[in-house]
Parts: sequence; structure tokens; C-alpha cells
Amino acid sequence: MAAKIPTLDLVRNYARVKDEMLEAIHGVLESQHFILGPDVALFEKECENYLGGVSAIGCASGTDALILALMALDIGEGDEVITTPYSFFATASCITRLGATPVFVDVDPATFNIDTGKVLEAVTSKTKAFLPVHIFGQMAPLEGCLDALDQRGVAVVEDAAQAFGAWRSLDGKILRAGTVGSIGCYSFFPTKNLGGYGDGGMIVSKDDRIAERLRKLRVHGAGATYFHDEVGLNSRLDSLQAAVLRVKLRHLEEWNEERRTVAGRYYALFAEKGLLDRVSPPVELDGNHHIFHQYVVRVPQRDDLQKFLDAEGIVSRVYYPLSLHLQKCFSFLGYKKGDFPVSERLSEETLALPVFPELSMEEQRRIVEAIGKFYGK
Ligand SMILES: *Cc1c(COP(=O)(O)O)cnc(C)c1O
Repeated sequence: MAAKIPTLDLVRNYARVKDEMLEAIHGVLESQHFILGPDVALFEKECENYLGGVSAIGCASGTDALILALMALDIGEGDEVITTPYSFFATASCITRLGATPVFVDVDPATFNIDTGKVLEAVTSKTKAFLPVHIFGQMAPLEGCLDALDQRGVAVVEDAAQAFGAWRSLDGKILRAGTVGSIGCYSFFPTKNLGGYGDGGMIVSKDDRIAERLRKLRVHGAGATYFHDEVGLNSRLDSLQAAVLRVKLRHLEEWNEERRTVAGRYYALFAEKGLLDRVSPPVELDGNHHIFHQYVVRVPQRDDLQKFLDAEGIVSRVYYPLSLHLQKCFSFLGYKKGDFPVSERLSEETLALPVFPELSMEEQRRIVEAIGKFYGK
């Protein structure tokens, strides 16, 4: 049987940067500086230059980035945060962790991003923040609701954990995911499109006061060492991770473009095979530069197709099999099945196919052949 095709192959990625990586890691070992330190400061500077117009603060994970962001906005008990039910768990758990209440708004069936046209209807006198996710690497079009939210005192915290480097062009201006709202959050979990060799995360903000506060919150709320202005977290980015991420950031544009090439090839292969009546490929909104952190299609008989592909040696994944409003731990919120029909339907129809910069045309042919075989084409 032919070799298994994984959803992501980090071994191939490592082979491309091995020399640079070993040198960067060696430098940290020689310095014996492991927590924060020069590499973290340099990585933060490089992210600021790459993203434009923001201060960057490294932290221990994407989940912590979200929690720290909400802490910096003083969000807690009695406050509501509007977000999407179709995302990774951390998007909503960061809200309940702080005692606040997630208020879900259904997603757009084409892009799987929160339906920004419905967000304003969900705002109440308790709404403190709006937490959109740029799901699978494509930005949600936030411009339509930003001003109205601002007027009502609602902060925007972007969960850009899957979208480092994605952008949206508006009136000739390029806006990177994470730099549009008050605060942006990123994850460097190893499988993310900018992934470290362990956990890591980052928060960015245009607001210097928020950035200053975040720098304290990540070190137990300390201004000067051992002098605590408030109670924060222990959430730092490690020097080793920063050194790894500095190497990867230098290649990110190239790798994101390669992901887009892979996506383009899938589309062409689906068309060639006459599969577009069965497989709905991702939709890229006008003005968006999708970086395809995941390549997620909608298909009939999803579970059977996944089993079939597995038997053919092709790994695929379901993001996400259960909407956040239906998770057991959130039952106290009082949501029920049917509340967010689009999100619920997506959890039954979406399938993430292999996508990574090094995925070859031959592998993609095999994947599309197998899908064709399943649907009798
Ligand atoms: C990965 C992810 C997170 C959490 O990041 P960690 O670094 O794993 O804590 C949050 N939100 C979304 C949408 C994610 O994909």
C-alpha cells in the first residue's frame, strides 16, 4: 500500500530549516536564558514589524493569550462576551474561566466565520467584548460592525490563533488578522501555521496602555520584580520557543503562499474530476487573503467518507464535531440543540483534508482520486 498521507507533516517542515533551527536552539543553550530573555524581545519586535502598528507580548499559549486579553479589559462576573459556537474550545472557555458569560451568534455557512451581520443584535447593556475567530485561516469581515461596537463601548478581541499572516484588504489598505480590534491573540501550538516546538502564544494591541498592562499580567501582575500591582498569571514565552519561532517567521510568507497553492490545486482537481457537485471547497471572501491553516470542505456522508479515506491511507479530521453551545461543560448556559443551526449542520458536514506547505501534487491527486472513488466518479 502507498504511504499514509497525514493531515500535517512537521517532519518534512523541519527538514527544510534544520540547520537554521539547530543554530538558533544552540544559541539559547549557550546563553542559558530560558524564560523571556533576548530571543523573546527580538521575536516580539519582529512580529510588530510583520504585523504593523501593534505592540506584541509573548505568552505561554493561545489559551492564555485569550485569558490575558480579557483580563486586560477587566472582564469578569456579570459581563457578556459575544463569540462563535463554531471554534476550538478555548475561544469560549477563556470567557467562563473569568466568570463572564459567552453569548453565541451563529456562523456564516460560506466561510464558517461568525455572521458579523448578526452581532449587533446580540449586544446588551452587559456586553463588554466581541470575540470573533478567524476560522481556518480566513479573516472574518469585521469592518461592518466595528464602529457600532465601539460606540456602544464593546471591545473587539480577535482570536487569530489559526490566522497568523492572513489579511484582508479594505479601501486599498492591508489589515492583518489580529490587528483590527482592540487586542489580537495568536497560538504557536506546534500544529498552527506558525507553530513552535512546544506551547506558546502572543497578544498584540495598538493601545499602549493595554500593552503595558499585559506585560505585567503575564508576570504575576508585577511592575517591578516582587512588587505586584495586581494578580496576574505566570504566562511567559520560553526563549527556546521564541528562537524557533524567529526562524519560522522568516519563512512564513513563503509557507503561507505554498498553502494557498495547495488549496488552488485541490480546487482544480475537484473540478477536473467533476466533484464540485459533491465537495464544496472553501469560499474565500472578496478582499481576503486566506492562509489555509486548515482546508475544510463540506461533503455529504461525511463520516462514511472519512472512514473510506482512512482505509485508503489518507488522514482527515473533523473540526469541530460538537458546537460549543452544546458542550456538556456549558450546559449551565441554557442553550439547546437547534439554537445555532448553521454551526450544528457544519459539525456534521465539514471535513479537513491534508494541507501543509510540503504536500505534493501527487499526494493531492491520490486524495482527490479516493474522494472520487467514494462518490462513484
Ligand atoms: C489553537 C487555538 C486556540 C488555543 O491555542 P493553544 O495555544 O492551544 O492554547 C484558541 N483558539 C483557536 C481558534 C485555536 O485554534
